[in-house]
Amino acid sequence: MEALIKIIRKNHKLIAGSIILLSMPGIYLLVYYTGGIKYVYSHTMYIPILLAGIIFGFKGGTLIAIVGGILLGPIMPLEVDLGTYQETLNWVYRLMIFLVIGGLSGYYSKRLRKINKINERLFSHHVETDIPNLNYLLSLSDDYISGSCLVSTIYINNKNHIIDVLGLDFYHKALNALYLTITKLIPQPNCVIQPENDKVWLVMPSKYGLKEKDIITNISSKEINVQGIKVYLDYSIGIAGNTSFKDCKNLSVFKDTDKLALYAKTNNLPYAIYDKSILKERYQFDLLSVFSDALNNDETFMVYQPVIRSDNKVEGFESLIRWNNSVYGLIMPNDFIPLVESTQLIHQMTDWVIRKVFRKQKEMADAGYDLPLSINLSVKNLSDMNFSTRVNKIMKEEDANPKKVIFEITETMLLKDNPQFRVTLETLKALGFKIAIDDFGKGYSSISYLCQYPIDYIKIDRFFLNDLQFNTSMFEIVKAIVNLSHQLNLEVVAEGVETKEVLDMIKAMDCDLVQGYYYSKPIEGINLVKYIIDFEK
Ligand code: C2E
Ligand code: CA
Ligand code: CA
Repeated sequence: MEALIKIIRKNHKLIAGSIILLSMPGIYLLVYYTGGIKYVYSHTMYIPILLAGIIFGFKGGTLIAIVGGILLGPIMPLEVDLGTYQETLNWVYRLMIFLVIGGLSGYYSKRLRKINKINERLFSHHVETDIPNLNYLLSLSDDYISGSCLVSTIYINNKNHIIDVLGLDFYHKALNALYLTITKLIPQPNCVIQPENDKVWLVMPSKYGLKEKDIITNISSKEINVQGIKVYLDYSIGIAGNTSFKDCKNLSVFKDTDKLALYAKTNNLPYAIYDKSILKERYQFDLLSVFSDALNNDETFMVYQPVIRSDNKVEGFESLIRWNNSVYGLIMPNDFIPLVESTQLIHQMTDWVIRKVFRKQKEMADAGYDLPLSINLSVKNLSDMNFSTRVNKIMKEEDANPKKVIFEITETMLLKDNPQFRVTLETLKALGFKIAIDDFGKGYSSISYLCQYPIDYIKIDRFFLNDLQFNTSMFEIVKAIVNLSHQLNLEVVAEGVETKEVLDMIKAMDCDLVQGYYYSKPIEGINLVKYIIDFEK
């Protein structure tokens, strides 16, 4: 069907011309056999005349008008039965009317087509440079280039310099000259567009992975001739390969090539090719620069993972942060917390988390579910002299109950022997908060030094527990840790329990609390009460 439509579109003039020509004798016969020109059927002739005007313009319209006028003129009887003929004035006048209709429809349809063409060009091309714009790219079909494509950004570094010295108009002409050079050089079908004033994007078929990059990098005979003046365009190129044309149309690949071109510029390279590490560097930079806004705009949000007591009751929840970034989508904490932790932004983030969790705890308590929620801290929070003062302030502002909040710190943090850690922990403890040691088993797993800190819980890391099923000595070690913790009045949480088998083993060790996908993945704040009700049904 599609093929048929394509054929019709391609040959529409031929098809329309044939229909018009065939219809002329048809209309003659119709008028003749319905009694002659006296009757209404002669008006049918307007149809081929109008069609000819619309499709073939002024000449086509007038030609068909003359043929139609003559066919319905001297050779057509007024009344066939009586054998009477029309007066000359009669058919000449009709011929004139036909001519006016054919001529006018032809003239105006041609004009409209011209205006339409100009509008289309304005819509899809930059007026100043006559280079296709984004609309042009988006209007192309998804399979305009089949197979994989090579995508590049050519970023003009010396735009401002050219404009200052030679003027904006000249710069636009230079850009157009660059465009013409590129389109001639790169394989067909290609698509070169100008998204902004200082760069062009190009897409071309790539049969050999990144090999075609040479074509683009060869464009670096950077002298362009504009109206007899040689101008040196200094540009940096970013190149990425193996993308379908359809994906190009959602534009994200150009974000990568833009970044690569910028990378090439800042590192004084002629071009940079897609490489994860380069983009990662940019990506991290991007993320950090918008993180503070993300906190203020609630792009970040908390989810909560249930902690279940061994008697099958919901004990509480661990709060975990998420970031719904407008460009990169949902970002998990492991992908941004290390970055944030490397800057002072971590203080802002932890304060934000604490406030959110205090509010959630209070909201739950008010609804009759006064369960503890835990909050993960960073090492920088522990070493921050002002941290506990800020926590105290937020606690008062939010009217929070410290007894129902657990701060989690990892075992590895404590390995760094910093006197401020103890001060912070003891102040938090004195305010009424509880403390848990997170990821126990990832560090040196020494319970002895835990005694030096005011701790309430230890959370055994999931990697430690994963081995339980296959390693009997590991089972004994964990069991010993649980027993020792109990003797020290610590409660033990088993983290990351995913299966019934591991759960059974953990229960056999007398572990107090369990957290893991077996019970639930982290859930959104609004669903906590529902989760408790459903779980305890
Ligand atoms: P964590 O504190 O050890 O948190 C537990 C992580 O294990 C969570 O990952 C959780 O979704 C995941 N998990 C829980 N049960 C299972 C399971 O059964 N199987 C598996 N495979 N994974 C399970 P998430 O949310 O991606 O958090 C990763 C880490 O990011 C956290 O590890 C914590 O160190 C850090 N983090 C998360 N939220 C915050 C926060 O608000 N502040 C700070 N400072 N760190 C946070
Ligand atoms: Ca944790
Ligand atoms: Ca953990």
